[in-house]
Amino acid sequence: MARAPLTTRFAPSPTGQLHKGHAFSALTALDLARRSGGRFLLRIEDIDPTRCTRENAEQIFEDLAWLGIEWETPVRFQSEHRDDFTTAADRLAARGLLYPCFCTRTDIQREIERAGHAPHGSEGPLYPGTCRRLSEDDRHARIAAGTPHALRLDLEKALSLAGPDLTWHDTFHGPQPARPELLGDAVLVRKDIGTSYHLAVVVDDGLQGVTDIVRGVDLFEATHLHRVLQALLDLPKPTYHHHALLTDPSGNRLAKRDRAATLKSLREGGMSARELRSELGFH
Ligand code: GLU
Repeated sequence: MARAPLTTRFAPSPTGQLHKGHAFSALTALDLARRSGGRFLLRIEDIDPTRCTRENAEQIFEDLAWLGIEWETPVRFQSEHRDDFTTAADRLAARGLLYPCFCTRTDIQREIERAGHAPHGSEGPLYPGTCRRLSEDDRHARIAAGTPHALRLDLEKALSLAGPDLTWHDTFHGPQPARPELLGDAVLVRKDIGTSYHLAVVVDDGLQGVTDIVRGVDLFEATHLHRVLQALLDLPKPTYHHHALLTDPSGNRLAKRDRAATLKSLREGGMSARELRSELGFH
C-alpha cells in the first residue's frame, strides 16, 4: 500500500563539521521523503550561541550541496524562533508542569552524594528533585533575588495530564511504550539559553509538520520524553527511524572532532560525492 507523502528533516547543530554519519542520516531522510513523493527539510539547530556558529552552518550547506542534496528554503534557524519555544514553555507552565530549578551542577552532585544513591537515566544520574520540593514562598523569594534558574518538567504531573497514548513507533526498533522516567525531571528551559534541545526539537517538528524523524540511535531515549511533550502540547505523533551509528575502522563512533571523517576532509582528499553516496548505500 502506498504511503501518503512524508515530510522528513535533517536537523544538525552547527557545532562542528559534518561527518559520514551525518551524510548517512541526511541521505536516509531525503530518500524516505523522495520515495513517498514528500518533502525534505533542513533545519539548523543553533539555539546554543556558545557552541554554534554561522560559519559551521555555512559549511553544512556546502557539504550537503556537494552531496547532491536539495532542500526547501528558507531554512529554519532555531535561533530566529525563540518566541515559539517560549510560547510552548508558557503553555506547560500555565498547567503547572514546570518548576524553577536553582541548582548548580555542584548542588546536584552534592545532593546525590548526600542521598547515597541516585537512579540513573540515559543522560546520567537523574535529577534528585531538590527544587521540586521548594515552597512557593521560597521560589518567589529566590526569583525576586535574581537567582538564575532553569525550568524543569514535573514528570509525575506531566504523566498525569499527558493522556493515554504515550506510545511511539520506530521502524528499526518496533513499537515503543514511552519511558520518560529514563530522563526524569528534564530541564526544558535552560538558564543560559532560555530553551533546550528537547523543547525546541519537539516544537519545531510539530510546527514544520514533520511526519517522520530520521536520526541516530544515540537520540533514541530522548524520544521517550519527546513523546510526552508532544502529547502535552497537542502535537501530532511522528514515526521515528533511529538508525545505527556509523563507526570508524576500530569500531568507535564517529564524532565531529574526528577530522579524518569530516565531509570537508573527504572532499579535499579527493573523494567524490558519488563515491561517498555509494559507500553509504545510496545511488
Ligand atoms: N540537532 C541534533 C544534533 O545535531 C539532532 C536533532 C534531531 O535530529 O532530533 O545532534
